[in-house]
Amino acid sequence: MADPISPTAPEKNAADMPHLWLPYSQMQTAPFPVEATRTQGSRITLADGRELTDGVAAWWTACHGYNHPHLQQALIHQAATMPHVMFGGMVHAPARTLAARLAALLPGDLERVFFTDSGSVAMEVALKMAVQFHINSGTHGRTRMLSFRGGYHGDTLGMMSICDPEEGMHSLFAGVFPEQILADLPLDEQSTADLDALLAERGSEIAAVITEPLVQGAGGMLFHAPDVLQTLRALCDRHGILLIVDEIFTGFGRTGTMFACEKAGIVPDIVALSKALTGGTMALAATVARRHVFEKFLSDDADRALMHGPTFMANPLACAVANASLDLFEQEPRLKQVAAIEDQLRRELAPCRAIPGVRDVRVMGAIGVVELDKIEDADALRRAFVDRGTWVRPFRRIVYLTPAFTITTEELSTLTGAIVDILKARA
Ligand SMILES: *Cc1c(COP(=O)(O)O)cnc(C)c1O
Repeated sequence: MADPISPTAPEKNAADMPHLWLPYSQMQTAPFPVEATRTQGSRITLADGRELTDGVAAWWTACHGYNHPHLQQALIHQAATMPHVMFGGMVHAPARTLAARLAALLPGDLERVFFTDSGSVAMEVALKMAVQFHINSGTHGRTRMLSFRGGYHGDTLGMMSICDPEEGMHSLFAGVFPEQILADLPLDEQSTADLDALLAERGSEIAAVITEPLVQGAGGMLFHAPDVLQTLRALCDRHGILLIVDEIFTGFGRTGTMFACEKAGIVPDIVALSKALTGGTMALAATVARRHVFEKFLSDDADRALMHGPTFMANPLACAVANASLDLFEQEPRLKQVAAIEDQLRRELAPCRAIPGVRDVRVMGAIGVVELDKIEDADALRRAFVDRGTWVRPFRRIVYLTPAFTITTEELSTLTGAIVDILKARA
């Protein structure tokens, strides 16, 4: 067993840990990480005894806060009954129930659920579905994807090909993955006309248009209006292209409605879900298709089947705790809590507008963003938040909060207060 790592010493860096390789980190210069030992609600306790108020909710997943007893009971019960079985030729109630509940919650006839274990893979499956949908329809040559600047859909090679090139390190990996089509979101008349023209020209090559709905998360928490999704739905219909909506970040209440596409009143052809699906406890993802997509895979020809099947597909522990998470959305006033968080974020982040170096302050649901002109030293800024007893992780040009929906008013004020004070001190 590893000893807990010692408290952060500024002279040490991540490479001084003997074995771990950290995500998105230059290990030689990344600061030595803090070590978490316990969680409760919106608090994280560190190995050195400090307690942090959490503004990130475990990469946007822990929507009910940490250690919710209802989720813990579901896990314990499922672990005692059946932690895992293979999903080939065998199903189980936790998966059947979860699929039915997701189908009931999602708009329109999004009703066929394919389970995987990470967001990236759920999106990979969505792309495979889209390409094969056209092949099974007897249309050939529709193998490309169109995605948008500022988008993020995961870190696998396939997903890198549809992420914003700046984020996905395209130049470094040039030639490794297929070239896709990158466009600007149709935010105004001109960009809508441009996209329409592009689809008219290259539509016969394109299997699907892929977007994050309302918020491009990892691309810098960039917001767009619901009518952008309506535009995309109309353009896809006009050009016979499938619309894939990546609700991995936005799904399960984050923007104020259960799913972001509800605000636009549209029904995508395929939706990907993950992050908050299990309330931040287990790795699980789902790709959900509309009936007309699924029906194209029905045939007496075996080659028309969807050829995908992760080893841990529909893991019963993960499905059981996802069901418990959906119980909480029914039993506890989550969307009301999101509305209250939205109000409080608007009020308490507003003073940031007056701080020199702040370019924008924006809030949608339980997402609060302060965009700066630039962040010179993200590590120093992150350390300042830890020193204030908060867990806030600035990236790119933004400082943001995506708290648990169960965060208390006082805890949220601790977070917003830290942002205001730290940005003021830095200005
Ligand atoms: C996090 C995220 C992904 C990738 O999910 P992983 O589980 O990290 O593979 C994909 N799309 C969006 C919008 C995300 O926020």
